[in-house]
Amino acid sequence: MSDPTADPGSEGPPEVRLKDLRAGDAPVHIVARVVSVERREYTRPADGRRRPFLAGLLSDGTASVRFTWWEPPNEPIERGTILRATGVQVREYQGRPEITINFRSRVAPAGPAELPPVDADDMPLRTIRELTARDEGFRLEARIARVGKKAVMVGTDQREVHEGLLIDGTGVVAFSSWSDFGLSSGDAVRISGAYVRIFRGRPQLVLDSNSLVAKIEGVGLPPAPDLAASAPRRIADLEASQGSELGCVEGIVVGLLPPSGLVYRCPTCRRPVQGGLCTTHGAVTGVADLRSRLVLDDGTGSVTVNAGRAETEALWGVGLDEALERLRRSPDPSLLESSLADEVLGLRLRVRGRVYPDDFGLNVYPDAIEKVAVDLDARAAELARRFAGAGGSHGSA
Ligand SMILES: [Zn+2]
Repeated sequence: MSDPTADPGSEGPPEVRLKDLRAGDAPVHIVARVVSVERREYTRPADGRRRPFLAGLLSDGTASVRFTWWEPPNEPIERGTILRATGVQVREYQGRPEITINFRSRVAPAGPAELPPVDADDMPLRTIRELTARDEGFRLEARIARVGKKAVMVGTDQREVHEGLLIDGTGVVAFSSWSDFGLSSGDAVRISGAYVRIFRGRPQLVLDSNSLVAKIEGVGLPPAPDLAASAPRRIADLEASQGSELGCVEGIVVGLLPPSGLVYRCPTCRRPVQGGLCTTHGAVTGVADLRSRLVLDDGTGSVTVNAGRAETEALWGVGLDEALERLRRSPDPSLLESSLADEVLGLRLRVRGRVYPDDFGLNVYPDAIEKVAVDLDARAAELARRFAGAGGSHGSA
């Protein structure tokens, strides 16, 4: 009589898919890919010696699970390595299973064909709110709120990346795709085989050639939002939520940060050139451009709005050609910056775009900047009040 589970190529119990892991006493047998791994050290209590261990994330396409590997081999374990491990322990931490590999475990390299075949329907369904850094092995059903393509340089190659926003009933997430899945704004899609990375402090979904995208009915998904109709949110609330992909703020311009005005960019990567040098491409001939970094205050907090050339020209009323002509007449770039400052300080603006946190606060990468008409006397009074409130050094006691 034959045993259908017998497998001469392996020993012990059959493999368990990561989505089926449950904390328990019995050691299990898994095949999984190393998604991320970090070598760390701990002090072994028995002899007080520093010993290495590995900590990271494993995925077999059905789920991703954190692991700890005590007494690991000396050779580095690279991201992407596929491992077959027997005798591993499953524990639960904060409601999710985790794997421990220890001296009782046996670990050997394995090939991609040994990973369990993944049916997208087997992957757990996630909502946008549930996505966390380095997640993979999930399905997501969402609607495309916006999508567009742009050319980017990868090394010396020019490649096309499709970028946009996905929404479901729980939130919004930015995505980028190296493959053209033929997506349009408003499409409802089921995505599997994508992963999550942190970009500018916010989760971003990355689709590659292994990802599957299927159009679905989208019953229950919210409709694509009218991106131009969102109402402004309090900056304090955006700080509390660490930014937003669909941000809208309204406030007064209370500052202009350098570099603003006329800047020079690397012709290859568009990064600002300093002293004729690009940090990536060395000595280059910079290409003139306009930008402004506006500090916008709404009374609850402030953000830095990174306005590009078109928005800067619209706010300033000075185009790039005229800025260059002015520079020829009086070769002092700070005059241009103060002319721009004179024009923008005190304006009330409504700004829509992506809002990302960094060490200094929130940055807005605008899709649209609108001037909001205000009463001039009220504007002057409000500015005076803001500056009086902010500048404690001139306070009278
Ligand atoms: Zn460059």
